[in-house]
Parts: sequence; structure tokens; C-alpha cells
Amino acid sequence: MSRILVTGANGFLGSHIVKQALGAGLTVRGSVRSAEKAAELKKVFPSNNFEAVVVADAVTGDYTEAFKGVSSLIHVASPFFIPDGAFDPKKDMLEPAIDGTLSALRAAKKAGVNRIVVTSSVGAIPSNPDLLHADTTYGADDWLPFNYDMAVSGQLPPFAVYITSKKLAEQAAWDFAKENPEIKLTTVCPAVVYGPTIHPIKSMKAINASNAPIYALLNGTFIPDIAPVYCDVVGTADVHVKALQSDSTIGKRVLFIKGGASPYEFLSIIHKKRPELASRLAPLPAEDPMKGKPISRFDSSIAKEELGVPGLELEDMVLQTVDDLLRLEKELGAN
Ligand code: NDP
Repeated sequence: MSRILVTGANGFLGSHIVKQALGAGLTVRGSVRSAEKAAELKKVFPSNNFEAVVVADAVTGDYTEAFKGVSSLIHVASPFFIPDGAFDPKKDMLEPAIDGTLSALRAAKKAGVNRIVVTSSVGAIPSNPDLLHADTTYGADDWLPFNYDMAVSGQLPPFAVYITSKKLAEQAAWDFAKENPEIKLTTVCPAVVYGPTIHPIKSMKAINASNAPIYALLNGTFIPDIAPVYCDVVGTADVHVKALQSDSTIGKRVLFIKGGASPYEFLSIIHKKRPELASRLAPLPAEDPMKGKPISRFDSSIAKEELGVPGLELEDMVLQTVDDLLRLEKELGAN
């Protein structure tokens, strides 16, 4: 397992996967969408064991150079953004997620690269109509009930389209592995991922989609309806690299959900532990808007017990994220 290819290497999670893989002694090639992004990423990882390669687009890009000399793939690249205006579910989310995954997997097969880890999402899992608020424990056999037609109909909110894109991309990967028995596939399904930013960003407006609601709290805005399940980014990256290195995960979905907590709980921690921020923080509502609602549980035993990645506790994860956002803000300015 000498050199691995990580797609989406300049993203929030992809860059942490690169870091963990380098730390584990692997040689890493990271794919990004432009030469400028490649140069920026090389500044983050000056190591001789890292190189960045351009694959211009997940669906139509040419992977020939990217797979040269590679023995395994971690496919991370997928659109993750919550649009504030109009968006095209098919073009902006479904196609790059599903066809992008298939394109990477086909190119891997062509290059003789059989060991593959694909980043899916906790969003691909909740099979109960109450989704993350069902009083149940979900496992690897559970799948989100939304389908392609629902996602392109324009009836689903953007976040639902996003999680549908993740479910369908993951299922496309499993179908591909079934049709090509030489492919040894593992998927990783993380909860909402929080933590320090190490990837190149130019302004605080470009904070990744999952850390953005914490930055909103620091700027006075409380968003009450974020998916209330969490995990930390370093642990999530570690799960990817360890899953790649563990044959026992071949053919499995590896869930990584540290726990459940409402946005109110995140905000209370920040008020309590960083009182000096009080004047800029969103005020704590009188009551938790999620009070009384169950938060679903997930069987994360493969990640936690088999791979030995416990994940950060909620308070540490929230405070590390807050402190890092403040560091970045100092560096980049508030806008
Ligand atoms: P980021 O937006 O930070 O990273 C996404 C990466 O994918 C970037 O490198 C981006 O490239 C690339 N990408 C997006 N669209 C395309 C495309 N059409 N063609 C090629 N590359 C593309 O998000 P995260 O790091 O948070 O997400 C990474 C992965 O983790 C995704 O698969 C996401 O679904 C999954 N995930 C994330 C969670 C989270 O809470 N953060 C939770 C569960 C799963 P560029 O910089 O050029 O846009």
C-alpha cells in the first residue's frame, strides 16, 4: 500500500485525511480541481510524501495521471454546501455525487486499483420517517427512504437533496462493487463533522458547511435545526485511514457517530466555557427548541471498537472548533 489517492484533498475533511495518511507513513496524492488549488494545497503539505494532482471535475475529469503508481483510493470529493438561493438539484448535487463516485471508481478499476474507501454520510442512513429524531438505534442495514425522483422534484429542501445525493452515491458504489468482485470497498458514514480547519480558505465566508453554524453562533445567530449528531474531523479522518488499512472493513459500512446533541447544547457549552465571548455570541434561548425530542443513536462499533477511534467528546470538539474559528478570523479578518 505505497501511494494512495485522496479526491477532494483540498476540502475540510479531505485535507485531514491527507494529514492522517501522511502521519500513518503513507505516500499521498491528493486530487483538486485546478492548478491554483494544487499549489495552495502543496503549501499546506510541503512533505516529499505528498503531491497534488489536477482532476478538473468529478464527473468528466481525466484520472489517468492521478492513478499512476497508486495502490488504493479514498474518494472524498462531493458537493457539500447549503445553497442560500436557487440551485439545480441534478446538476449541482446529484450528478457530481453519484456520477462523480462512479467515475472515480471506474477509473480506479481501469488502473487496477481495487482497494477503495468512499466517504458517505450519516445522512444516507435514517430509515425511519422521523429521520434523526426517531427513538431508535440505526445500523449498517438502514437507508434513507428518499429517492432520485424526490430529490429532482424540487419538493425537498436543499439539505434533504444533499443527503439523498450521498445515499445514492453510496449505493452506486456498492452496486459497482457487486458488479466488479475484485473491488474491495468500504464506505464511511460520518455524522456532522466539526473541528479545526487546515485546508486553504481565503475568507471566513468560505468556512465549510458543517463548521459554519458554529461560526454563526459566534456571530450572534442561532440556527435551531441542524442535524443533531456529531463527530470530530480528526477522528473522522483517522477512521478513513484505518478503514483503508483494515481488511476486516472490506464490504462494510463504517458508521462514525460520536453522539447526539442539539445546537442549544453546543451554544450552552460555548457560553459556559468561553464567557469572554458573551457579547458576540447568540443569546441562549430560554429553552432548548429540541427539548423532549429524541435523537437517534447509531451503531458505530466498527469505528470505535474495531478500528479503535473513540472520537472527541462533545465539549472538547465544540471548544476546539470555536478556538480554531477565532484563530482563523484573526488571520483572515471577519469578512
Ligand atoms: P468541503 O466542501 O470542504 O469539501 C468538498 C470537496 O469536494 C472539495 O475538495 C471540493 O472541491 C470537492 N468537490 C465538490 N464538488 C466537486 C466536483 N463536482 N468535482 C470535483 N470535486 C468536487 O466538504 P467536506 O470536507 O465537509 O466534505 C467532504 C466529504 O465528506 C463529502 O463527501 C461530504 O459529503 C462528506 N461528509 C461531510 C460531512 C461534514 O459534516 N463535513 C458529514 C458527512 C459526510 P473544491 O474545493 O474545488 O470545491
